[in-house]
Amino acid sequence: MTRQIAIIGAGMAGLAAARRFNDAGHAVTLFDKSRGLGGRMATRRAGALQFDHGAQYFTARGERFRELVDGWLAGGQVGEWDNGSYVGTPGMSAPARALAAGCSIVAGSQVTALHRDDAGWTIHDAEGPVATPGNGSFAAAILAVPAPQAIPLAATAGIAWSPMQQASYAPCWALMLAFDKSLDLPSDRMRPEHAAIGWIARDSSKPARSRETETVVVHATPDWSRANLEDSPDDVAPRLLAAFRDLSGIAAKPGFLAAHRWRYALVERTAGQPFLWDETIALSACGDWCLGPRVEAAFESGDALAREMMAKLA
Ligand SMILES: Cc1cc2nc3c(=O)[nH]c(=O)nc-3n(C[C@H](O)[C@H](O)[C@H](O)COP(=O)(O)OP(=O)(O)OC[C@H]3O[C@@H](n4cnc5c(N)ncnc54)[C@H](O)[C@@H]3O)c2cc1C
Repeated sequence: MTRQIAIIGAGMAGLAAARRFNDAGHAVTLFDKSRGLGGRMATRRAGALQFDHGAQYFTARGERFRELVDGWLAGGQVGEWDNGSYVGTPGMSAPARALAAGCSIVAGSQVTALHRDDAGWTIHDAEGPVATPGNGSFAAAILAVPAPQAIPLAATAGIAWSPMQQASYAPCWALMLAFDKSLDLPSDRMRPEHAAIGWIARDSSKPARSRETETVVVHATPDWSRANLEDSPDDVAPRLLAAFRDLSGIAAKPGFLAAHRWRYALVERTAGQPFLWDETIALSACGDWCLGPRVEAAFESGDALAREMMAKLA
């Protein structure tokens, strides 16, 4: 029997669940506050420039994820950046679009509440119930957003899951730089020991990226990001650039400079279980905060949840 499934959050966790349900013949509607899919597997575009300013690469160790990644490698949605490190091509979010195929997508919709009655779940934004296929009533609802954002949504449904409350994230400020000349960086990816900078990647070295401009992504350390969390991107960008120059010895002036704040970037403490699921009301939750700070962990969480729910809903 076809069920209507609502998934709030179209990052890797929500999409992994969506794929399972869709493959089994259920009708999936994905809600996301962003215009694009992929969540933190994001690509920022600025004119002809592009930057993977969130997740930098991903691994594929689990059997099901490996199978999907092999398909995306063959289909051109993924490339291998380094041995065992994969990236979406032409941008990080390409696998997200592949996973969402066949699902209904409600983009640019910030969900504020979930209401349940005898007909099932309705999903609300600031304007009220969101109009969706199937008259907006869902047999099951899945929260696939970072734990701190899932807590208030679960509360609107009268649920407080303590493992969700345990999970925590470190923030990350990301700096995007473009140069018209190739830089003398010792490697395409670096994890320096530095108070402000935790990661430097030559983004333009990734497969299927333009080599015409040298693009670089710099991630601040969790401590630096926390200390400067509420500053504006315009304030943060020149300070992180100064730290990058100091560390790398590169004095060239970038032709493009921008900073982006990820308030919930990398999981520091997990819920310690692959997903949460209240079978009596058919409400569940998944995400990287269940298993660890990685794209693949988010996939495993959403995939495991969908398998369990399908077994029970059947
Ligand atoms: C700077 C940075 C670097 C990283 N580097 C790596 C790396 O190199 N390798 C790696 O494996 N992982 C990395 N990660 C971690 C990886 O990106 C995440 O673990 C993974 O993408 C999380 O997927 P998710 O589906 O759990 O959450 P998300 O990707 O955050 O998806 C959640 C989605 O929910 C949406 N949402 C939130 N609230 C609402 C709401 N109220 N209504 C509607 N939609 C909502 C968001 O817009 C988002 O699209 C990095 C992350 C960051 C930020």
